Amino acid sequence: MIPLRIKVEANADQPFVVRLRSFEADGREQKTEQLNPFDVALERVGPDGAHYVGEGGPIRILGIDPAKVDGDVLLVNPRRGTADRLIRSSSLHNTFLVTERCDQVCLMCSQPPKKHHVDLFPYFETAALLAPEGATIGISGGEPTLFKAQLFELLRRVLEARADLSFHILTNGQHFDPDDCGAIRPIDRRRVVWGIPLYSCNPAVHDEIVGKAGAHGRLLENLTLMCGLGAQVELRTVLMRPNADGLPQLARFIASTLPFIRTWAIMQMENIGFGRMNWKTLFYDSSEGFDVVGRSLDLVRSRGIDAWLYNFPLCTVPGQYRHLAPSTISDWKRAYRDECDGCSLKARCGGFFEWHPANHGYGKLGIVQ
Ligand code: SF4
Repeated sequence: MIPLRIKVEANADQPFVVRLRSFEADGREQKTEQLNPFDVALERVGPDGAHYVGEGGPIRILGIDPAKVDGDVLLVNPRRGTADRLIRSSSLHNTFLVTERCDQVCLMCSQPPKKHHVDLFPYFETAALLAPEGATIGISGGEPTLFKAQLFELLRRVLEARADLSFHILTNGQHFDPDDCGAIRPIDRRRVVWGIPLYSCNPAVHDEIVGKAGAHGRLLENLTLMCGLGAQVELRTVLMRPNADGLPQLARFIASTLPFIRTWAIMQMENIGFGRMNWKTLFYDSSEGFDVVGRSLDLVRSRGIDAWLYNFPLCTVPGQYRHLAPSTISDWKRAYRDECDGCSLKARCGGFFEWHPANHGYGKLGIVQ
């Protein structure tokens, strides 16, 4: 798995953000472009690690090839001797986890909420401003909008300063409010997509899945509010046993009540966190029961709404729907199985989450010649 945290030594008391400037990819030619005050340049590499220098002083990176971290933006925690790779310059999958707090307790949550919160928004803002040209940055949690004032400000400032960047934000959609309109309007809505989960058109089923009474009603109010502000909404539905049978009804509901959304994503489950704990009761084998999924896709797409399959191994999807199943699992947590060796679809298949169980649960899975 690609490491998101690396070992660092730095002579400082407080956390700080730096961008690493290493060698060119061929390992010989030093970069000559002008350095930003947050940049540190590679000075030498030895058995004791890679030594960088910058305006803030020297730092030493251990245990990773400097060529693999060139352009990466790190949040260095000198007391712990670690650095989080907030931006990996070679990756399309950079996400800021802005909080681990959440007001919902979803049955399949991959990142179970914690009470503790440390405000790292200023570091995230600095990191975003140092991102490579044209990057899309993910924001997730926990629930990012529990800290919506900081979030809206970060979005506004970064998007104003960097016309090339965009954001994808995962939120449960519970905390928007008509009073937020003044803070949301100055954010360039063309460069922000809000990924918001809706699990069922039946309020009782949705509320049961997210562990919060009244969540469905609040969500629908806020979807209307956000779309009234011109927000781009990617509606997300994790497919599970409790909501699989109702998927075609949800598709009809979306087509008739929420036609203003940008995209509907039907998603397979992730076997980690609560998802692992509840796997046996929740996992829905879509390779055997694709009918509800196919009907739902057909229905919303026939009404002109974009609909996609996220996190579905391609061989579990009937051929006529495979073009709707892009590779969506982030590079650092994507894995393939022994069964995938020699599969003709592997280059465009998103595979599995690294932690998907060996007993994968799909009745129909296997190499496509
Ligand atoms: S066999 Fe593996 S690589 Fe091929 S489609 Fe299935 S999951 Fe993807």
